[in-house]
Amino acid sequence: MHSQTLESDAVPTIGFPSINQQVVEFLQITGNDLALIERYGQTLRQIASDFPDIFFNYLFGYPPTAGILNDWLNQGASITSLLKQQDRYISQWLALDISNHNAEKLLQVGRKHHGRRIDPQWVILSYQFQVKHLINIITDHPAVAANDRRPLQDALSKLLFRDLSLVFEGYCRAAGGIPRQLEQGMDTLQAHMTNLIANLPYVFWSVELPGHKLLYLSPGNDPRDVCEANLPIPLFNDIINDDQIKIINAWEQAVQGGKQQVEGRVLDDAGNIRWQRYLLTPCRNIYGTVIRMDGCIEDITDVRETMDRLQHLATTDMLTGLANRTLWYDRMNMAIHAAQRRPGHRVAIMMLDMNHFKLINDTMGHPVGDAVLHQAAQRMKIMLRDADTLARIGGDEFGVLLSDTDDTWTAAKQVAKKVLGCFNEPFSCKGHEMYLGASIGVAIYPDHGQDADSLVSRADIAMYRAKQRGSGYMFYNPGTDINAIKQLQLSNQLRQALQRNELELHYQPKIDLHNARLCGVEALLRWRHPQHGLIEPDQFIPLAEQIGIMAPITEWVIGNALDTSARWQQQGVHLPLAVNVSALCLQNPALVQWVKSVITSSGAPPPGLELEITENTVMGDVDQNFDVLMSLNELGVRIAIDDFGTGYSSLAYLKRLPINTLKIDKSFVMDMALDDNDAVIVRSIIELGHNLGFNVVAEGVENADVWDLLNILGCDEAQGFHISPPLTETSLLPWIAQSPWRLNA
Ligand code: C2E
Ligand code: MG
Ligand code: MG
Repeated sequence: MHSQTLESDAVPTIGFPSINQQVVEFLQITGNDLALIERYGQTLRQIASDFPDIFFNYLFGYPPTAGILNDWLNQGASITSLLKQQDRYISQWLALDISNHNAEKLLQVGRKHHGRRIDPQWVILSYQFQVKHLINIITDHPAVAANDRRPLQDALSKLLFRDLSLVFEGYCRAAGGIPRQLEQGMDTLQAHMTNLIANLPYVFWSVELPGHKLLYLSPGNDPRDVCEANLPIPLFNDIINDDQIKIINAWEQAVQGGKQQVEGRVLDDAGNIRWQRYLLTPCRNIYGTVIRMDGCIEDITDVRETMDRLQHLATTDMLTGLANRTLWYDRMNMAIHAAQRRPGHRVAIMMLDMNHFKLINDTMGHPVGDAVLHQAAQRMKIMLRDADTLARIGGDEFGVLLSDTDDTWTAAKQVAKKVLGCFNEPFSCKGHEMYLGASIGVAIYPDHGQDADSLVSRADIAMYRAKQRGSGYMFYNPGTDINAIKQLQLSNQLRQALQRNELELHYQPKIDLHNARLCGVEALLRWRHPQHGLIEPDQFIPLAEQIGIMAPITEWVIGNALDTSARWQQQGVHLPLAVNVSALCLQNPALVQWVKSVITSSGAPPPGLELEITENTVMGDVDQNFDVLMSLNELGVRIAIDDFGTGYSSLAYLKRLPINTLKIDKSFVMDMALDDNDAVIVRSIIELGHNLGFNVVAEGVENADVWDLLNILGCDEAQGFHISPPLTETSLLPWIAQSPWRLNA
């Protein structure tokens, strides 16, 4: 909390201070007080409008004051003139004139009271009456903002006491001394004041400087609680150690002559933290030396708690309890500023998006989606250090900020892997077990951007690439930025690609390793873009999934592949056909029905139709997928698990599901002749597949060494550039005719 020097106020202290200046200074009437009264001028005028009536009714109801008034009336005054006079006084008073000229008028009023023999106690008590009237009304007046009530009451009472003391001074000057009745009146007033102050939630005190002699401590406080050491601030020893230093600083500055305001915490008797605000007002003598310190302690726990609650609400994501977008951006900006001051310092920003989360929401409902988000958040939170910020940015998007790292690139890599590890275990909710992956994009300050916005959008682009490639996490690469912008334009064109007949299928041959014969083809989708030429499926299928057009595309792919197969059969080529089905389509309740109708309407269904589904898709919601796969199986459709080895399969599920084929992911196959680890993985998958009775296909066979090794390991089928790249419908038959691999009989 910072301390602040308050502005000095409206009455300048030049030369010997006038009585008016002394009164204004003593009461600490500030420009803020005047501004506050002025702000509520209208309301105060209304509140005060019925005061003259109430006031005179009261005075006429009490015999001694009624006597004074009647004398006055007898001397020629009228009730109306009395009321008017009172009214005028209130408007003058609301005009906020605290000038010496105005003070003169008030001294004059006191002199008149003396001349009319109005004993000053009645004047003092009338002021008390007026203070009470105004202050009571303000306590719950709807036109006065709750925060302003206390300061407004404070300001009003200061102004009224100013007037009172000047009137009183005028009286005393005229009388040449303090009359006896006045002494009594002062006693009454002091009792009132003591009572008033004791009931305020403030501690006031005043000490002499430099001796620290206690001059005043507001009633209800024990003078022994004033620390007599360096700082004679009441209850100083109760202040929490961390905050004492702030208050000592403020004290030292106040002793130099600047008003200070500082906040600190104390522990109450029950051990709870309470917040207090300390106001320190130094008072100078006529030579400018600080000779006294006036102080005030105010309990501001309620205000702080409300502010903390508001702060919490404004910065927390309610579903997960994590930081929200606002707080994440704040922390990011702070981390970037800190890094700017420390050359060579870096900040890593990660954007994480869950894969196919929308499916969970769409198929299982939002409560299940919310539960998954909550579980994911808790897992990630445990993984990260306290210094890191994990935030939910919105939907299934999370952000991570790493600011306190030595080797930021390595740290970011490790954290990305650790966070992805949180998605290894299934999420469970309402009896469903779901495997859900995630993709992370990383951007580093200052390498990838100078400010939070550009870093976030770059981490986003990297995340998008990671999602497309299924690579888990990716760092931003400036070369991909341009591609990302193109993606946006592409998505609009992709919507029209189907109608415009721009999609086409290529067919990649598969060879039976046991007899080196062609045993089938996999249909692979391409988009022949009018400007960009042939676009690979990895470049547009994630986009198609995002914009919700994967269902019609899949329908087109299956129908088209079957038509092609029928045309080949007419030419005597009977080839089993594999078609890829994306996660979104497997969840589509209409899938089984389409496949059924396409097969029945196709003149010549292929000898073996196999649907390839990626490993994580199948393991996503095993219970639901089980029914779909069983129904497909009943139609005579075979099921292949694609890209096997990249996901997280449960052996129990592999055994339970109606699976025919495992396709080993090409990332293990391509280099297996050079990389022993890959070879071990491929061998294990072949053994596992055979033990479970599956046909095992290796994709990504790029050379003869791999081919030979697969043969040795007993793999069943091979697919890859070593055999052939994917071919168009028309080039397949000539390829078969000249290839060393004959068609399986
Ligand atoms: P996939 O089903 O695993 O297909 C194999 C991919 O490996 C194909 O990429 C193929 O061209 C490529 N490939 C084949 N042999 C080799 C090789 O020796 N070395 C290397 N490095 N790559 C090889 P493509 O055609 O780009 O397809 C990529 C992915 O797009 C497919 O992976 C599949 O998941 C998806 N896909 C393709 N067509 C469709 C479709 O009609 N529907 C759906 N849902 N997904 C499709
Ligand atoms: Mg495939
Ligand atoms: Mg594959």
